[in-house]
Amino acid sequence: MKRITIAIDGFSSCGKSTMAKRLAKELGYIYVDTGAMYRTVTVFALRNQLIADNQLDINTLIALLPQIEVGFTPDGGVLLGSERVDEEIRSVEVSNWVSKISSIKEVRQKMVDLQRAMGKDKGVVMDGRDIGTVVFPDAELKVFVTADAKVRAQRRYDEWTTKGMQVNFDEVLQNVIDRDYQDQNRTESPLRQATDAVVLDNSYMTRDEQQVWLMKQVEKVCCTPI
Ligand code: C5P
Repeated sequence: MKRITIAIDGFSSCGKSTMAKRLAKELGYIYVDTGAMYRTVTVFALRNQLIADNQLDINTLIALLPQIEVGFTPDGGVLLGSERVDEEIRSVEVSNWVSKISSIKEVRQKMVDLQRAMGKDKGVVMDGRDIGTVVFPDAELKVFVTADAKVRAQRRYDEWTTKGMQVNFDEVLQNVIDRDYQDQNRTESPLRQATDAVVLDNSYMTRDEQQVWLMKQVEKVCCTPI
């Protein structure tokens, strides 16, 4: 089967990462979680006190961008420099600031360059918000994932409480709604469904059902002569 580029975009907390990782594994492709990259930049901003009194120091963050090294370990761990930040990028504080950080043009440019380099040889499943529209507009398969906001908030709430974190459901729901709004209404690469994307509403689908659906889409694309 020919190797292709698969772009998975959509709203926050739709389970994109889980489905994209599983799809990449089944196909023997590389998996790139681009949200984790923006989250890692957010960790850098928080650690360097660029966020204080509910304000982000955008100019200093832009000035320090060359110092920010974002990467992945071969087993999918997320790196800030040489340090793994897998747990830290999932904190509530990072979730609250990441949309602001990802709306900065210079931050996006740096991440998009890295993403294009990681996917240059195809055989990649990349998930995010702008993969099918900006990063790889020529991707052979583009999937746009959506689900009811309450269902998404419940999934994130379950994930956090299972880890023992103290969270309030209404706050989690508000975070999901706020991020949807910010992601869709920012000036730089707003979240949009690519015109040639196939839509997956997974509100009431199991992970297995999603995987079967995705594999069908891959087969359709790979079996269609170019
Ligand atoms: O996918 P995840 O929820 O981890 O992404 C965190 C945030 O990063 C999103 O809410 C969005 O603001 C931003 N993001 C983005 N472009 C991407 C991936 C994520 O702007 N390609």
